[in-house]
Amino acid sequence: MSSDTVERVVIIGSGPAGYTAALYTARADLEPLVIEGWAWGGLLQQTTEVENFPGYPQGVMGPEMMQQLRDQAERFGARLRTEDATGINLSTEPGGIHEIQIGDEVIRAQTVVLAMGAEHKKLGVVGEEELGGKGVSYCATCDAAFFRDLPTVVVGGGDSAMEEAIFLTKFASKVVVIHRRDEFRASKIMVDRAREIENLEFMTPYAPTEFRAADGGALTTIALKNTETGEETEIEAKGAFIAIGHVPTTELVAEQVDRDHEGYISVDGRSTRTNVAGVFAAGDLADSTYRQAITAAASGCQAALDAERYLRDLPAG
Ligand code: NAP
Repeated sequence: MSSDTVERVVIIGSGPAGYTAALYTARADLEPLVIEGWAWGGLLQQTTEVENFPGYPQGVMGPEMMQQLRDQAERFGARLRTEDATGINLSTEPGGIHEIQIGDEVIRAQTVVLAMGAEHKKLGVVGEEELGGKGVSYCATCDAAFFRDLPTVVVGGGDSAMEEAIFLTKFASKVVVIHRRDEFRASKIMVDRAREIENLEFMTPYAPTEFRAADGGALTTIALKNTETGEETEIEAKGAFIAIGHVPTTELVAEQVDRDHEGYISVDGRSTRTNVAGVFAAGDLADSTYRQAITAAASGCQAALDAERYLRDLPAG
């Protein structure tokens, strides 16, 4: 089912990048259509307090911030579709019309802003997939309450791991942060905060090699290897939260837009222009370096301005 209507701007994704692109293009009277996905709001929906987004001196909860960004875009006329884009067919012709599918429906657009963000990276070790939802999780905010008074671990050494671990300590009897190096990638303030918590411990340099379950089918034990000495050991845990970074969500455009070796969308210099005319990339899916809410929002703004200029420069008719 294809409509005759051609949208001027379709934004796919709804983290800080998507909603900021929506806000700016809405204010430019481009009436953007945002395909925000069922899980709108992106990864910030799964975080707790955001303390480093300028303008919130007391911090703000991730879901609250996303609701506000969404409301702000809507206030200026952005139209939201709370569904997932299921396919895409980008035109290779300059000035061509791009097609985005939502199930059987085909949406046509002059410009597309790709802002699908990133998803949790997997460890790829035995038992991880099988025990998903049975002890292995990627979101403490979502699942911490299931582990009240139980021993848990967090795997990773970045800011996400610290944040998950700190949050978990309010529920679990004990939280052990397992990291493959003695040095942490996380900011000092987060590591220091974690070190002060009584029921939080660090175990380095170790990496999980297997997640094991008892007869009941739920996680009981994690096999670990010392990454320096090769020594093998194990730790008992009912919950394991994996926080080892993210991978960009770019499968939808895999064969159609240039990506780097890690799957991040390549853009032209400091712009958000991809190699396809009229297609722009903003936020975590094009950023392997900074990956902050504020940088994602800023690139959403850039994508909106890039799209606006592209439309303005199209030949009339
Ligand atoms: P990250 O900074 O890339 O850290 C990932 C961590 O996981 C690293 O310590 C890495 O170890 C470890 N790791 C990666 N692959 C692994 C593997 N296969 N096995 C074991 N360990 C593995 O990712 P992040 O913590 O998700 O943070 C992403 C970005 O968001 C960062 O820029 C961060 O500052 C930001 N962020 C900020 C906040 C905040 O400010 N409150 C909160 C969350 C995230 P190595 O260090 O050895 O590579």
